[in-house]
Amino acid sequence: MTKVFLNKKMNPRIAGGHPWIFGNELQPIPENITPGDLVEVYNNDKKLIGIGYYNPKSQITVRLLTRKKEKIDEDFFYNRIMLAWQYRQKLGYRENCRLVFGEADGLPALIIDKFNAYFVIQTLALGIDRWKPAIIAALEQIFHPKGIYERNDVPVRELEGLPQQKGFLSAAFPTNILLNENGLQFYVDIENGQKTGYFLDQQHNRNAIEPIVKNANVLGAFTYTGTFEIHAAHFGAQKVKGIDISEQAVQQANKNAALNGLENICRFEVANAFDVLKQWAKEEQKYDVVMLDPPAFTKSRSNIQNALNGYKEINLRGMKLVENGGFLVTSSCSNLITPQQFLTTIEMAAKDARKRIRQVLFQTQSNDHPIIRGLDNTEYLKFLIVEVQDQ
Ligand code: SAH
Repeated sequence: MTKVFLNKKMNPRIAGGHPWIFGNELQPIPENITPGDLVEVYNNDKKLIGIGYYNPKSQITVRLLTRKKEKIDEDFFYNRIMLAWQYRQKLGYRENCRLVFGEADGLPALIIDKFNAYFVIQTLALGIDRWKPAIIAALEQIFHPKGIYERNDVPVRELEGLPQQKGFLSAAFPTNILLNENGLQFYVDIENGQKTGYFLDQQHNRNAIEPIVKNANVLGAFTYTGTFEIHAAHFGAQKVKGIDISEQAVQQANKNAALNGLENICRFEVANAFDVLKQWAKEEQKYDVVMLDPPAFTKSRSNIQNALNGYKEINLRGMKLVENGGFLVTSSCSNLITPQQFLTTIEMAAKDARKRIRQVLFQTQSNDHPIIRGLDNTEYLKFLIVEVQDQ
């Protein structure tokens, strides 16, 4: 295996367990390495740091798979996936979970979502993309899946010189599948839905709304296929209105409401949240609970301020629509925005809206998306419930 060397003292990030090594941290690299190959990485005093996959095209030139000298083969991937599954089972997951959450499971740039007997995978770096056959073999051995689908139609692959693509990694199967969550059922379109088709990261958070939605008049914005809103109806809300800008999402959300017999309580329509929330606030509409779950407003560091402005704007509009003593349920899934930045933004929104907000709970993603302490990129979701009072 080719050896590469750090060009100076090991960065505390790497020493602390972070698996990424950037190009500018390495001594000139032998030219005969094929991109995607495994390399052994050594300290500048010749001590082995670990083994990882190499891609000169990516800023993240090496992603470490292991810190010790061991064989990286099919069995290695089988074992890592098995460990990830055992961990999820220990936490109580059975049917649906994020089975592999990349770096947090020691499998950099690999995402696997398990939707009962179906699996959706993303290989987001060249090195892991090459191991797709081993990953499929492991899934087949452990789960005997009904189907495996690849959702690699994501721009981040291009940073690795990889094409965007999607398709079957098993025999073809109908890609509109059914999933159970908390006794409710949801259609999931794993071929054309957003990301892998369903947002498992909010699974625990959807349960958290139960006490505040009883008999409530609820507004949900950025609903996607309506999971939060249908949960609200199920937990006893009187009326639920949901809006999303995507026609496809709204259709699916209405189908999901009907599937659970909640179509008389829960209705979805197509709208741009930025426009209608402003309009409805002007009309002095009021709701007992307003729920916001926007997409990541930024994927680049240079754009953080704009993203914060977006969060402030949408939360200010949301708060204005809350009845005195009602609740705002608000999320941010952008990993570039810290929990503290998010909270400060919400506080600023409250100040501008002349509201006093009392925190009910503040938490993060479901624990099938584990956070490795010290590994920044693994903690990304912010989920906040506040009571909103007029000042
Ligand atoms: N709450 C959902 C996930 C929401 S994802 C769940 O738990 O499943 C974010 C959603 O915001 C996407 O469905 C996207 O279509 C929608 N969206 C993006 N911009 C929007 C806008 N300006 N107005 C309304 N919806 C928007």
